[in-house]
Amino acid sequence: MGRSEELMNRAVQCIPGGVNSPVRAYQSVDMTPRFISRADASHITDADGVEYIDYILSWGPMINGHNNRRVLDKVTEACQRGMSYGAPTEIEVEMAEFMTSRLPHVDMVRMVNSGTEAVMSAIRTARGFTGREKIIKFSGCYHGHSDCLLVDAGSGLMTAGVPGSAGVPAGCTKDTLTAVYNDLSSVEALFEANKGEIACLIVEPVAANMGVVLPEEGFLQGLRDICTREGALLIFDEVITGFRVAFGGAAELFGVTPDLVTYGKIIGGGMPVGAYGGKREIMEMVAPLGPVYQAGTLSGNPVAMAAGLEQLKILTEDADIYNTLAKKGEKLFGGINALLKQYNAPCTMNHIGSLGCIFFTPDTVKNYEDAKKADTAVFAQYFRHMLGKGIHLAPSQFEAMFLSVTHTEEDIDKTLELVEDYLKNAK
Ligand SMILES: *Cc1c(COP(=O)(O)O)cnc(C)c1O
Repeated sequence: MGRSEELMNRAVQCIPGGVNSPVRAYQSVDMTPRFISRADASHITDADGVEYIDYILSWGPMINGHNNRRVLDKVTEACQRGMSYGAPTEIEVEMAEFMTSRLPHVDMVRMVNSGTEAVMSAIRTARGFTGREKIIKFSGCYHGHSDCLLVDAGSGLMTAGVPGSAGVPAGCTKDTLTAVYNDLSSVEALFEANKGEIACLIVEPVAANMGVVLPEEGFLQGLRDICTREGALLIFDEVITGFRVAFGGAAELFGVTPDLVTYGKIIGGGMPVGAYGGKREIMEMVAPLGPVYQAGTLSGNPVAMAAGLEQLKILTEDADIYNTLAKKGEKLFGGINALLKQYNAPCTMNHIGSLGCIFFTPDTVKNYEDAKKADTAVFAQYFRHMLGKGIHLAPSQFEAMFLSVTHTEEDIDKTLELVEDYLKNAK
């Protein structure tokens, strides 16, 4: 028995499922999770000392690689001055100035502690601003675990929300309507059936929680146009895409301006941070300035801000950084795609920049219904093959692969070799 198995045996006695977030469990691949003891740059080491090339990167945050020196130094420095005060600090102002001066769609921003909180607060703000209660989300898009967003209505076109989790009262989700990703007519139909009642529409502008699904040409602009026409707010949930597909996220990359935007993951540099922001007149609704209440004991924590701000600075200093990431993405994901074709594998590769996903289905994947056609048993075989050869992938078909600036040519070549190895043997 390895150290991870030993730790898991202890963990399951006192932590539900042995993990502090369900995505970490290896349930769907029928294994014991690797317990991690350290990580550096693109590599991560488990409790038995086995080293892997890491494509999870803490589910996105470590875009500059693990153990980035500059981030580490800022954090250590901040720690020396006290961990938390519950009073305003200079670095919070610096963070907000840094963001608002570089993100044209963000006039004001509020810091929170997670992506879940950011989204929950943005929705509350949208409801407060519009005086309307209904919201639209897309099936297959994840927006954190707050009650009203835990709706996974499947083929939910035109259906009011059914909670996707026990413990969520139907009352909390009855105002959550679900549309089909990349299908503007499903959005039009919901607006038509709920005239003047929709507060906001929230979308992952590149969906990255049902695998990776790209917005089709015109989809995001179409959402913008419909929301403007109907007086509803457009919220981009950029918790994954923010500072990843471009510094300004999908809003910058696709040139579509949301009314509100949410951030998480990368913005904390590995610390628990989220943020929501947007147009001044909307953000002025938030307490203590306005009537929408939202608060947080540890929000804007100085140590977390030190990590996050330094990470964002690194991402803006090298003008070429997103090109570099995209090139690495092309080499890895484009390379995998070529192999899938060469071996006639019944798979589909979706990718954009440093985000990618192999779907184990031969058909195009442009929404949740398509994604669900993937063969998760085959994914599990592939996952076990890769893990066994030293590749740390998310243990689910429906998660992205993340690249950092520290992934080397050698890392990518090795990964491609192992994918080829798998495809040869799968034949
Ligand atoms: C991860 C994620 C969230 C939730 O963020 P947490 O920090 O896990 O609460 C929300 N939205 C999207 C798009 C995410 O990927």
